[in-house]
Amino acid sequence: MLYTRSSQLFAEAEKVIPGGVNSPVRAFKAVGGTPIFVKSAKGAYMYDEDGNRLIDYINSWGPMILGHAFEPVVQAVIEKAKLGTSFGMPTELETQIAALAVSMVPNIDKIRFVNSGTEACMSAVRLARGFTKRDKIIKFAGCYHGHSDSFLIQAGSGAITFGTPNSPGVTAGTAKDTLLARYNDLENVAALITANKNEIAAIIVEPVAGNMGCIPPNKGFLEGLRQLCTDNGILLIFDEVMTGFRLARGGVQELFNITADIVCFGKVIGGGLPVGAFAARAEIMNYLAPLGPVYQAGTLSGNPLAMAAGLAMLQSLDTDRAIFQRLEEKTAYLAAGMEKVLKANNVVFTINRIGSMVSVHFDAAPVVDFQSAAKGDNETFKKFFHGLLQEGIYIAPSAYETWFITDALTYDDLDFTIQAVDKVSKTF
Ligand code: PMP
Repeated sequence: MLYTRSSQLFAEAEKVIPGGVNSPVRAFKAVGGTPIFVKSAKGAYMYDEDGNRLIDYINSWGPMILGHAFEPVVQAVIEKAKLGTSFGMPTELETQIAALAVSMVPNIDKIRFVNSGTEACMSAVRLARGFTKRDKIIKFAGCYHGHSDSFLIQAGSGAITFGTPNSPGVTAGTAKDTLLARYNDLENVAALITANKNEIAAIIVEPVAGNMGCIPPNKGFLEGLRQLCTDNGILLIFDEVMTGFRLARGGVQELFNITADIVCFGKVIGGGLPVGAFAARAEIMNYLAPLGPVYQAGTLSGNPLAMAAGLAMLQSLDTDRAIFQRLEEKTAYLAAGMEKVLKANNVVFTINRIGSMVSVHFDAAPVVDFQSAAKGDNETFKKFFHGLLQEGIYIAPSAYETWFITDALTYDDLDFTIQAVDKVSKTF
């Protein structure tokens, strides 16, 4: 496949946009080459500026769980746009999507909408600090919670890919309030809590990590965090920006039957428009302005187009109760197929999977935290990525990302992908 026009467009973009992209991972820095410029997408496929068709395993980094240009979402946006695109005043639509989200997710009474996952996590932490009257937070190495200052301390995703886990521009003052723990290591967390008695406002965690590849929690890890939080007056924040409305109707809280104190959303909840949200029981949410003292706001928050897209998406997920089972089956089929051919070709690998999140790591040891994720062979990953691209298959351009499976994929697409993995891995 040729990507000539994409390369030309990238050269033009580089003149006026830093690195040619508006979000770093898109630049293909970790895998080499130039990014692909997308013209359109429908269902499981993207069509680029060179006229290539790509089977999409990233799906806008998660939102397009029902496929690109999903008809109910597109229609809802078109109809709303005709009525005005932003008012900065309340609309009935906001209450409708809020009520639906609250009905789908366990343990939340109220939800506030923002414009990105970053904003959701940033606001959740501010709320937790205001509510507990404490300053420090615990985050896990390799977990990514957006690019707000307190989270750029050994963050995952692009922040690892680019080797700047502690970004310049984050002050020492901010960094000192973020304590770092190892994912899946409860003793480490307990030790931090003991060393910072009555100072920790919140533990923020990706309850299934997706920003160092896909790393499910070990048995007992989330339960242990819940207990430590309860015992020490700490709020447990589940960052479900990736997992919310994806791993189950009610997210990881439902999947593992664990109660978080604050839950952050993004991606699927906006149906592909810029939306994030954070939610909690009323006692906590009422601490927000205008009811409470913790300030948080947004000119475009609750934007009618974004809310229309999100509502159409959540309604579809709410109505089609079999979707999460279908996604599970498709992803399990893909993972098993890839495992078979990689084994047959003597590739050293580990596949991690839970529900519709899956990642391939080129290392034999179990991948359970940031350290083990970092051991993967990046040279093999590069060959894997570019080999698949030549076959018309798009996976994330970094080994530190999960794949997001969409319901629009057919079993023919999955078989084609498994055959491509076979072909490509023979060249390693
Ligand atoms: N939290 C998690 C778990 C994420 O994966 C991401 C983005 N990949 C974010 C927060 C930040 O979301 P956004 O990019 O919408 O700001």
